[in-house]
Amino acid sequence: MTAQTVFPPPQPRPGGPASPATSAGRPGLADRPSGPSLSPSRAADFKTCPLLFRFRTIDKLPEQPSADQVRGTLVHAVLERLFDLPAAERTPEAAAALVTPEWERLVSHEPALAALFAAESGPIGPIMGTVSAPPASDGTPPGPPSPGPSEPVADPAGVGHATEAVRDPAAVAAEADAMGQLALIDAPAGAAEAARLAAFLGSARDLLGGYFAVEDPQRLEPAERETLISTMIDDELLIRGYIDRLDVSPAGDLRVVDYKTGGAPREAFEGRALFQLKFYALVLWRTRGVVPRVLRLLYLKDAEVLDYSPEAAELERFERTLVALSQAVERAKRDREFRPKPSRLCGWCNHQALCPEFGGTPPPFPESPTAGLPADSEPDRLATPHQDNLVA
Ligand code: SF4
Repeated sequence: MTAQTVFPPPQPRPGGPASPATSAGRPGLADRPSGPSLSPSRAADFKTCPLLFRFRTIDKLPEQPSADQVRGTLVHAVLERLFDLPAAERTPEAAAALVTPEWERLVSHEPALAALFAAESGPIGPIMGTVSAPPASDGTPPGPPSPGPSEPVADPAGVGHATEAVRDPAAVAAEADAMGQLALIDAPAGAAEAARLAAFLGSARDLLGGYFAVEDPQRLEPAERETLISTMIDDELLIRGYIDRLDVSPAGDLRVVDYKTGGAPREAFEGRALFQLKFYALVLWRTRGVVPRVLRLLYLKDAEVLDYSPEAAELERFERTLVALSQAVERAKRDREFRPKPSRLCGWCNHQALCPEFGGTPPPFPESPTAGLPADSEPDRLATPHQDNLVA
């Protein structure tokens, strides 16, 4: 798709009303009774590890964000704000200038983030508590992460305030896994807090440089940004998620754009990322009657673009896959059977201490496991931040 000029509808602002992308004539998020639902991130959790799904979605255990998660959130916030500017002002310098104000805004929402750069905490990535050693090259899960010095500040399974400041851990883990290495902030151990924060903000600016290497925002007028979209499948299953950006050409072609802040993908990782975009494509197709022309992944770290063009038949099959996945989730809930599924991603799991694969014992299953559900009660993204929603 080459056309990039579009007619933008009114922009939903962070914290504002949900996108009109919810199926017309069908129940929306607010008025729909509880029932099965899936988002890309929760689907990813269940496919990655059913026990991880349980910990996040049913037990709603808190998790600590990693530096990569927070940086990803920051970069997405900056890119979202960038398109608030008149087209001619969307320069690399303007984007860089947005980094510090957006960081301060994130910290104002979640003050605990500021503690992530305490000087005594060691390298920024590991202090977050979500990462330890990278997985072994043969896929053997690494040992439990070292506990970080700070308290958890996020609950990815919930809808609490803290969640607003971070991206989905599974997504970050998948990106890091795809790189075959951890993406840590390059700040020397023992560096002063200000230096560590400066390194972190500098790394965010570096990613924005990668964005400008692959796209010119002055030639774009996104139709929608950071938009919650949802639809029903068979009047039974609610599927929903946030898209980073939707471009609409004058001819009505849709292009779904997702920013990735990790490294260059391997083939397997591309499959996971495309799962996420197919999810969005299905929702858009069902709500707007148009199969998106292009699903685009923008890998900012290496300034790479991956385009994919789905077909209706493919999305139909994908729809059946989601139904089957939802049925598996419901069975697991009914039987209270969420088995651990160890993989390379265990290295980034916050819950190894409670996982039988690592000698732990899960907490008692909640007596009212449906309280606060549907099981996938969390839209993929809340308010400002971004989450990549991948499936292993
Ligand atoms: S440590 Fe691995 S197997 Fe255990 S819950 Fe986490 S992802 Fe699942």
